[in-house]
Amino acid sequence: MKLKKNSKIKLMKKIIKELKKKIKYHEYLYYVLNEPKISDETYDNMLKKLSKLEKKNPHLIKKNSPTIKITGQINKKFKKITHKIPMLSLKNIYKKKDFLNFKNYLKKKLSKKKIINLCCELKIDGLAVSIIYKNGILKKAATRGDSEIGEDITNNIKTIKKIPLKITANNIPKYLEIRGEVFISKKNFELLNKQKKKKIFSNPRNMAAGSLRQLNPKITEKRKLEFICYNVNLKKEKIKTNSHFKTLIMAKKWGIPICKHTKIYNKTKDILNYYSKKLKKKNKLNIDVDGIVIKINNKKYQKKLGETTKFPRWAVAYKFPSDETETKIIKIKFQIGRTGIITPIAQLIPILLSGSIIKNVNLYNIKEIKRLKINIGDSIILKKAGNVIPKIVKVIKKNKINKKEIINIPNKCPGCNNDLKIKNNLSIIKCTSGLKCKAQLKAYLKYFISKQSYNIIGLGNKTIDKLIENKIIKSSIDILNLNINMLTNINNIKIKKAKQIIKSINQAKKIKFSNFLYSLNINGLGKTNAKNIATKLNSVKRFLNVNFKKLISIKKIGKKTAKNIIKYIYKNKKIIKKLNKKIYIIYEN
Ligand SMILES: [Zn+2]
Repeated sequence: MKLKKNSKIKLMKKIIKELKKKIKYHEYLYYVLNEPKISDETYDNMLKKLSKLEKKNPHLIKKNSPTIKITGQINKKFKKITHKIPMLSLKNIYKKKDFLNFKNYLKKKLSKKKIINLCCELKIDGLAVSIIYKNGILKKAATRGDSEIGEDITNNIKTIKKIPLKITANNIPKYLEIRGEVFISKKNFELLNKQKKKKIFSNPRNMAAGSLRQLNPKITEKRKLEFICYNVNLKKEKIKTNSHFKTLIMAKKWGIPICKHTKIYNKTKDILNYYSKKLKKKNKLNIDVDGIVIKINNKKYQKKLGETTKFPRWAVAYKFPSDETETKIIKIKFQIGRTGIITPIAQLIPILLSGSIIKNVNLYNIKEIKRLKINIGDSIILKKAGNVIPKIVKVIKKNKINKKEIINIPNKCPGCNNDLKIKNNLSIIKCTSGLKCKAQLKAYLKYFISKQSYNIIGLGNKTIDKLIENKIIKSSIDILNLNINMLTNINNIKIKKAKQIIKSINQAKKIKFSNFLYSLNINGLGKTNAKNIATKLNSVKRFLNVNFKKLISIKKIGKKTAKNIIKYIYKNKKIIKKLNKKIYIIYEN
């Protein structure tokens, strides 16, 4: 019996030890190397798991546990600076329920009757720093480090233009600590990543950190770092205010940048509203923001609540749902577009990402595959760019089990078996068979019936594929010639459905001129260009007889598009005339 218990303890010890090792490894990646491989949420979940295990086995808790202290964050190449007040991090919360719990906790700890003002701020995804001013002169600056000791980055901080080296005002305190976030704007991040030839940073935080934690301040200076103050610490001074917000306003008067989005609320409803508004807006901001910070505004109350070894009890970071996640590549498919260009698509283990399930992700071209060093079986980080299109950010774990599964770049078209044309060092792979290629025809017809073209409802992708496979449709005009019999001869289409489709086709024959031009599938002729040409030319006849000079005089039509249009008209005059007889065009001007 005793032996059994002993081995159980041993096992638990081992589990905890391994989990701690894993957490510390990821802390090292995040804090020291600025190259995280997992999302914050995944990290927090590991920490939660450890905390649970430790609660069940309190005898196994050690002082150096990551639940008690953030570890291993100081890079030895820097001098050390001890923080007078520890620079703690914030407790992360992810759900509305967690926020309500936080609010209830505050009410319980402070008096129930009092109104508790909460200061809501943007949580900028940058690097926390502490800057010390003595008699208005910038003396020292340090990173958070392990919260007690940070790295001396004074000379680097001095290169940030928005941080004053000297504060001049009447009421400058003898001792002043400014805490805030150093970051890089999204615009500058993109610009710098384009300029840099060797190392590409994966996100603005990682670039800001890499630029600040530099031995050479000249490099820091070039990176155009920015700063926003989120906390002001004063020693006992003449300035008497308990309002955190008021100290921020004071800092602003001294020339220290603060965030203009900061607001004070006391109602739950208002704070939740602030959260959802900022979440909606976050992609439009020029700063990477990953949540909001909610703090008690009254510094007296802050003191009363105090802190744990890791977090203050009077504040939380209410994080936005992650638009990054991890999954695995199962397969690489090659998809043929309506212009014959072949695009590699990665098929993924389906994963939920900011509200939608992602099964496939576009890899654009072979060059991109090579740049990301992607292979089948690799684990990757997926991100929603601009919160819409998912994109692979990087590979986090190479597939080691089956090295044989390398990507086969096709040299023959999977749609028509013709040789493929490869251009620009693999960035363009193209099938040149035109609409004789079944795959291209399929892609084109899906475009032809889309909302911006003919807007035909009820013809699904599968039906189109079948109509082409059965040779009922060989070109776009055949769609306009479909009848009920043709449709019901295809499996699974019932007469009622067929009638609906035919009705939609007949309605679609009345088409706006710009939609008609767009539906032709001319290289470079998007919706805007189609509209501009439609209003200028105003008839099919004029379009068929247009010359190069006239085309480039039209708004936004460049030489390349104009050439494509002329070439297209020359090749397709007959089909355009045929289509024109089948339909009724509505001119827009
Ligand atoms: Zn082909």
